[in-house]
Amino acid sequence: MKSFSVPNPAVKRLSLYLRRLEQLAEEGTKTVSSRQLAESLRLSDAQVRKDLTYFGQFGRPGVGYEVRPLVEELRRILGTDRVRSVVLIGVGDLGRALLRYRGFPNRGFEIVAAFDIAQDKIGRDVGAVRIRHLDELGDALVEYDLDMAIMAVPPHAAQEVADRLCEAGIGGILNFAPTTLNTPRKVAVFSVDLAASMEQLSFQVHTRK
Ligand code: NAD
Repeated sequence: MKSFSVPNPAVKRLSLYLRRLEQLAEEGTKTVSSRQLAESLRLSDAQVRKDLTYFGQFGRPGVGYEVRPLVEELRRILGTDRVRSVVLIGVGDLGRALLRYRGFPNRGFEIVAAFDIAQDKIGRDVGAVRIRHLDELGDALVEYDLDMAIMAVPPHAAQEVADRLCEAGIGGILNFAPTTLNTPRKVAVFSVDLAASMEQLSFQVHTRK
């Protein structure tokens, strides 16, 4: 399966399905119908069935989906069936918070290396991770066999850092800087723009009054 043959919204919903299925598994639920899954996520059951069909044939007529096997399968599809090592660039307020966040390993991610350019930060530890200079990035990607990066640098530095990550052979970047990155097509980029999300929330609140 090539990721570009699956619409992005369907891939996004896969994470939603996984969260819900993990909850159901924890509650001891063995099987779930597409309707039950859809209702709990405020989607239509046709949508759920269509989305999952992009990735394989999972349900059984009259039975629905077996919860635990589907959790395993969705984790495998998302590449989170093992803990993936991730590099962080930019250890400021946000970077430190991300390094201290303990929830990532449960979701299949671990920040194993962190880089900055501020001399007063190099060599310091945040949790179990020592901050290194960005010039050592290439070595670390090879050392830890890393293919995913989180960027928490200021907007003016984002493109330059992205270029360095791409040159070093990164496969994907999660970008927190409010800036659009220019990267080769083979590098996946996801941007988290909290201010834009707040604008969307503001619009929703505003128009519901
Ligand atoms: P910050 O200024 O506290 O930290 C930025 C860090 O990046 C600093 O440690 C700095 O030394 C480092 N840096 C600068 N240039 C670099 C380079 N070329 N290579 C490596 N490191 C470099 O900023 P922050 O508040 O942590 O925010 C980081 C990014 O995330 C910003 O783009 C910001 O707009 C965005 N953001 C932050 C928040 C938040 O809640 N803090 C929320 C949304 C988005």
